[in-house]
Amino acid sequence: MSKGITSKNDDYSQWYNDIVIKADLAEHSSVKGCMVIKPYGYSIWEKMQAVLDQKFKDTGHSNAYFPLFIPKSYFSKEAAHVEGFATECAVVTHYRLKNDGNGNIIVDETAKLEEELIVRPTSETIIWNTYRGWIESYRDLPLLINQWANVVRWEMRTRLFLRTTEFLWQEGHTAHATSQEAIEETERMLDVYADFAENWMAVPVVKGKKTPTERFAGALDTYCIEALMQDGKALQAGTSHFLGQNFAKAFDVKFTNKEGKLEHVWATSWGVSTRLMGALIMAHSDDAGLVLPPKLAPIQVVIVPIYKGEEDLTKISAFVDELTLKLKGLGISVKYDSRDSQRPGFKFAEYELKGVPIRLAIGGRDMENGTVELARRDTKEKFTVPQEGLDFYIANLLEEIQENIYNRAHQFREEHITEANSYQEFKELLDGKTGFISAHWDGTAETEKQIKEETKATIRCIPLNNKQEAGVCILTGKPSTQRVLFARAY
Ligand code: AMP
Repeated sequence: MSKGITSKNDDYSQWYNDIVIKADLAEHSSVKGCMVIKPYGYSIWEKMQAVLDQKFKDTGHSNAYFPLFIPKSYFSKEAAHVEGFATECAVVTHYRLKNDGNGNIIVDETAKLEEELIVRPTSETIIWNTYRGWIESYRDLPLLINQWANVVRWEMRTRLFLRTTEFLWQEGHTAHATSQEAIEETERMLDVYADFAENWMAVPVVKGKKTPTERFAGALDTYCIEALMQDGKALQAGTSHFLGQNFAKAFDVKFTNKEGKLEHVWATSWGVSTRLMGALIMAHSDDAGLVLPPKLAPIQVVIVPIYKGEEDLTKISAFVDELTLKLKGLGISVKYDSRDSQRPGFKFAEYELKGVPIRLAIGGRDMENGTVELARRDTKEKFTVPQEGLDFYIANLLEEIQENIYNRAHQFREEHITEANSYQEFKELLDGKTGFISAHWDGTAETEKQIKEETKATIRCIPLNNKQEAGVCILTGKPSTQRVLFARAY
């Protein structure tokens, strides 16, 4: 126990909630299933957005914005899509309220919409309906669009960041002349997500394909990145879908190819959401609070003065001002917390809770000795460092911390991928904090369903570049050519 945070070994789920609340990232709102993202949490999300947005632009995409509301008839045009989302849609039926004469505000039944509007759970339908007017010939392709937006999925069991009814995300929607180009785009964006997860979030991921049962409604193929949390549960951190010509056919989007023939357009869509915040928190944090990889930390270095009087503080502040300038010059974000309303110990605990990667404490004696006391959040080590060359020392250390956090998560992930060769072994493994279980599966939806019902473990993915290996399905004993990754998941 530390600062009122439940230990993650005692109750992982409560530990996660405690961190989200106490590190001031988000809170439950008065609206069921919806959260308030607080300024500190939002500033991390903004950092994520900025990096991803640049990556999308670097791969040729532009941002645009489409309506929040989708006419119900659009939704019904793609059969699998509507079936997949039907059970979690918010539907707008009226557009006015009125006073019933007794001071009660009620829905005005005379203001009923002719056609109901669906609050977007995802935007394929409204976007493909729009693309019909944008695409005529092969010269209009590829069309590479991304939207940053909020979406609503009426989830029954919600958890802060991981699964909320309304969430923030980006959704890419691209149109291509050939199937090959669309598949390449689907894979390219999966790589962008994996690169972001590993090199910015410091979360190692497995890239793979979903089984037909777990595919996005309306997709021919769903690719995903799967991450492992510290309790051994998997988390789907991002998806990239190859949609074939399904949406082009549903919305009649055709183009004239180079030979002058009319063809349906090929599509992809891909998205990551505020769920990434949940992944970031769960992958690295400890019982003292949040642990942030430096590349996504809103504050990378916090400086706390330890002073006896005004004279002390003036000296320390002059040094800090100079150091701050140098650090900012190196692109490092710094906060100088010279509040006199709180004691240093209180501040230390607060920044530890909030996951600030490096903390410097500087006192009168440090000023005399030309040193500072430096504390690393990831390892909780403390050491005395010379003031001379401190800016470059910190820049290097931030890189080292980023690497260390990744390596730690990677090692954990590697230690938590286990092979199971029988159903018995599989079930025994699930009793512990197993992580991923690599096992043979006969490739049928029935077997997948039975395993899920009996063990709550799902096939997370069929890893890309999977090794082909003859074996037998753990449940049915039927032949299989490769292992797939199972896990219990968020
Ligand atoms: P999908 O459109 O279902 O492929 O989901 C796109 C992205 O949104 C994936 O990265 C999901 O992990 C994420 N996601 C799906 N549902 C939710 C939810 N209720 N809350 C937060 N993120 C979600």
